[in-house]
Amino acid sequence: METKTTCPYCGTGCGVAAQAVDAKAVGERALALRGDPDHPANAGRLCSKGTALASTVSLEGRLLHPTISGRRASWKAAIQRVASRFSETIARHGPDSVAFYVSGQLLTEDYYVANKLMKGFLGSANIDTNSRLCMASAVAAHRQAFGADLVPGAYEDLDLADLVVLAGHNAAWTHPVLFRRMEAARRARGQGWIVIDPRRTETAEGADLHLALKPQTDVRLWNGLLAWLAERGALDRGFIARSVSGFEAALAELGRDDQSIGAVARDCDLPVHDVEAFYRRFAATDRTVTLFSQGANQSAQGVAKGLAILNAHLATGRIGRPGAAPFSITGQPNAMGGREVGGLANTLAAHMDFTPEARDRLARFWSAPNVAERPGLKAVDLFEAMHDGRVRAVWIMATNPAVSLPNAARVREALQRCPFVVVSDIVPDTDTAAFADVLLPALAWGEKDGTVTNSERRISRQRPLFPAPGEARADWRIVADVATAMGHGDAFAWRGPAEVFSEHARLTAFENRGSRLLDLGPLAGITRPAYDALTPVQWPVRADGGGTARLFEDGRFATPDGRARMLVHRPTGPARATSPAFPFALNTGRVRDHWHTLTRTGLAPELCRHAPEPVIDIHPEDAAAQGLKAGQLARLITPLGEAVAPVRLTAAQRLGELFLPMHWTAAFAPAGRSNGLIAPDTDPVSGQPELKHAPARISAYRETWRGFALTRTPDAPPRGLGLVWRRIPQADCHLLEFAGRGDADERAALVLALMGPVRADDLAMTDAAGSVRRAAVRDGRLERALFIAAGTARLPQREWLVERFADAQLDPAGRAFLLAGFAPGFADLGAVVCACRNVRERTLEAALAAGAASLDALCEATGAGVTCGSCRPELARLIGAAAEETRHAA
Ligand code: SF4
Repeated sequence: METKTTCPYCGTGCGVAAQAVDAKAVGERALALRGDPDHPANAGRLCSKGTALASTVSLEGRLLHPTISGRRASWKAAIQRVASRFSETIARHGPDSVAFYVSGQLLTEDYYVANKLMKGFLGSANIDTNSRLCMASAVAAHRQAFGADLVPGAYEDLDLADLVVLAGHNAAWTHPVLFRRMEAARRARGQGWIVIDPRRTETAEGADLHLALKPQTDVRLWNGLLAWLAERGALDRGFIARSVSGFEAALAELGRDDQSIGAVARDCDLPVHDVEAFYRRFAATDRTVTLFSQGANQSAQGVAKGLAILNAHLATGRIGRPGAAPFSITGQPNAMGGREVGGLANTLAAHMDFTPEARDRLARFWSAPNVAERPGLKAVDLFEAMHDGRVRAVWIMATNPAVSLPNAARVREALQRCPFVVVSDIVPDTDTAAFADVLLPALAWGEKDGTVTNSERRISRQRPLFPAPGEARADWRIVADVATAMGHGDAFAWRGPAEVFSEHARLTAFENRGSRLLDLGPLAGITRPAYDALTPVQWPVRADGGGTARLFEDGRFATPDGRARMLVHRPTGPARATSPAFPFALNTGRVRDHWHTLTRTGLAPELCRHAPEPVIDIHPEDAAAQGLKAGQLARLITPLGEAVAPVRLTAAQRLGELFLPMHWTAAFAPAGRSNGLIAPDTDPVSGQPELKHAPARISAYRETWRGFALTRTPDAPPRGLGLVWRRIPQADCHLLEFAGRGDADERAALVLALMGPVRADDLAMTDAAGSVRRAAVRDGRLERALFIAAGTARLPQREWLVERFADAQLDPAGRAFLLAGFAPGFADLGAVVCACRNVRERTLEAALAAGAASLDALCEATGAGVTCGSCRPELARLIGAAAEETRHAA
C-alpha cells in the first residue's frame, strides 16, 4: 500500500506517494514513488529531485551507530557524554557558552524539542538554523511590516495572478513544480512574467521582461516603483487609509533620492524603457504576485529589499486578495516549521518575542526554570563566538556549516577550536562531521515521522517508509534523551512525535486570544491515529479543522494597531565593492538537479548528469579579456580564498560578473567550493549573509596535465598531491576528473595511488611525453581505468568507458578498445538535458533537425520534458537557438 509523505527538498513541499518494494527482489532497499495526486501543493507533479528520491534511500555510506572520538559507542554512553559536557560547560562558563546549530531539514517536532531544551531549560537562546542563510531577511521584513512572520499568499495565488514578478528567484530551477503551475496559468490565461535578476536564468529566458539589474540595486528599483506609483496616483488610497501606517513618512524618505526613471535606470544599469515597462505593467495589473527568494534575501541589505517589495504591494492594496500577494518562497522543506517553533535565535516558540510577558507565558506553559532572557547568536556570529572561545560546546544537527556558511575556512577553524562538538547526521563523512567529538546517527527521509510546513504555511506529514536502520534515532528523540540525562526528563517525556506536535499546537493557542495568527489550536490534543491520518492543512487552523489559504483578507495585520507598517530604507549597495584588484562581482547559487551539499542528490547518478561538476559562468567578452576558453580551468580568487573550476562562457552573465554554484564539498570537488570565497558580511537586522556578491578576480589555472579515472568505489586522489579534482557519480562507477601543475613524479604518484603497480592482466600504455593509459580488468570485468594527458595531448570522451562498467563481462571488442577509450561507431550523445529520461543534446538536435519545432513536438519526439518538466525551459531555448540558426542560414 502507498504511504503519503512529503518531499524533503525545497520549500514547495510536494506530496509524494511511495511504497517500499520487495527488498529481496531488488536489493537492499527500494521504493516505487510518484507525486501525490491529492496533495494541494503539487497535484501529482514532482521535479527531477523528487522523482529521483528512490535513488537516495540506500544504506550505503550511512551512519548507523554513535561514535565518541571516532570510536563506536553505545547510545547510553553517547547521550551521557553530550549531557555531561553541556552541563559542565554551562556550570563553568554560563548558559551562553553552549549552542545548537540546526537545520531546515529537521521536522517541526525535532525543531520544537531542540528549541525547548535550549531556550527553556539551558537558559540561552543560542539556537540558530541554516534557514538563516535562506530566508531570515524575509522573516525580518515580515515582522517589521506585518507585525509577525506571516506569509500572506498561497500557491493558489500563483494560479490566479495575471502578473508574477520574480525577484531574485530562479523558479524554473529552484521550485520547478511551482513553475509548472505558473506555466499552466500562462498557457491558459496569458499570465505575465517579469524577472528581476542579474543573470539571464532559465526563468528569465521565458519571461516577458527580464531586468538584468546591477547586483544589489534591487532596493533602488523597488523604491523607484513606489515613488512612480505615488506620482501617478496609481495607489490604493482607501487601503492605505484603512490598513497602512507610515505611508507619508515613507514618501518623504523616498524624496531624499532622485526617483526619476532615468536616475533609477542609471543606478540599476537598466534600459529606461525596461524600467518603465515594469512600472507600467505593475501599475496596470491588479492581480500581481511578487515571488522573492534568495536573490533578494542573501544580501547585507536583504531586509530593505524585502520591505521595498512589501511596500509596493501595501501601497497598491495587492495583498490579502486572490492572485495578489508579496510571496517569500523558502528554499528548504521545513524552513517555515522552524520559524513556527523558534528555530531562529531571535524568536521564541510559537511566534513569540523576547518580551517579559512571552517569557513568563513560556515558563508557565513548559514549567521551564530557565527561559532565555534575550535573543541568541545568529549563525555567522555563533561560529565567530566559537572561534573566539565564547561558545565552547556546540551541537550541529542535519546541516553542514563547514561548507555552507560564508568564510568556510574560518568556520572550520572555529569547529577545530571548539572544545566539544556534537554532530547529528545521517552520514559520517560530511565536511562538518570531521570535527565531531560525538557523532550521532539520525533518521533520514523515508524513516522520519513528523511534520513539515511549506512556503504557503501548509503543514504536511512526513511518514516513515522504512524502519529505522541500525541504531539511528529520530532527532527529537535524541534531544529528549539528552534533556533527560541533564535532569529535565519530566518536560521531555513524549512517547512519540504525535505528542510533541500536540504540545506545539497547544502552545500556539496558549493565551493566544487572537493575538498571534500562528494558531494550531484545533490540532492541540491530536491523537496518534488522527496525527497519522493528518491531511495537509494551512495555518491558521480553523475551528472546524480546515486551513486558511490567505492572510490579511480583512485588511488587518498583526501589529498592535492592526495596520501594516510601511518602512523605507535607502539603497546602500553591496557590503564590499569591486576594486581594481578584484574587479568582478561573484554570485553564488543553485543548479537545477542538486540540493545543498550533495549528501543526498550526490547519491543519485541521474541527478549528477545535468550539472556534473562546479563550473564558473562568465560572459564571453570577459573570458576573452582574461584569456580564458570554454572548458578551461580557471582560478577564481576573492580576498577570502580561491576556487578552481572549468569556465562556461555564457551571455546569460552580465559583463563583469561571475557565477559559481554552492553545492560542491570536499568529498566531491575540494577546489570547487564556493562559500570559502564569501565574506561573512550580514544584514544588520536579519543576520543573513551576502552570499550573492563578492569582489573577485579570475585567471587561467594553467595546468600542465589533465586526466580522469573511473573506479567502482568513490575514491579520491591522495591529499598531499594538491591536485584539482572532481568526483562525479555514474550509474555503475565514479568518474574522477583531475588536473595538476606538477611534473612526472606527481603523475606517477597519482597513478600508483589509484591503480596500484601494473599487474600482468592490466592494460597499460605510457608515451614519451608522459601521457598514461591504464585499465584493470578482473575476471572479465572492467574494475578501474585511468587516462592522463600530459602537455597538449588529448583525452578520450568518457561516455563509452563509463558504459563499459555496466558490462558484466567485457566482450573482445570492448577489451580491445579500452585504452583507446571508445569503440568505432560509438556516438557520444553530448550533455544531458533531461535528467529524468536521460535525453542528451545530440538526440535533441537530431529531433530539431527532423522538424520537431515546437516544445510539445520536441518532447514527444524525444521523451524529454514529459516527466518532471524541469528541463522544459532549456528545451525552449534549444528550439529558439535552432530557429535562429535556420533564419541566419536562410
Ligand atoms: Fe521536491 Fe521538487 Fe517538489 Fe521541491 S519542487 S518539493 S524538490 S519535488
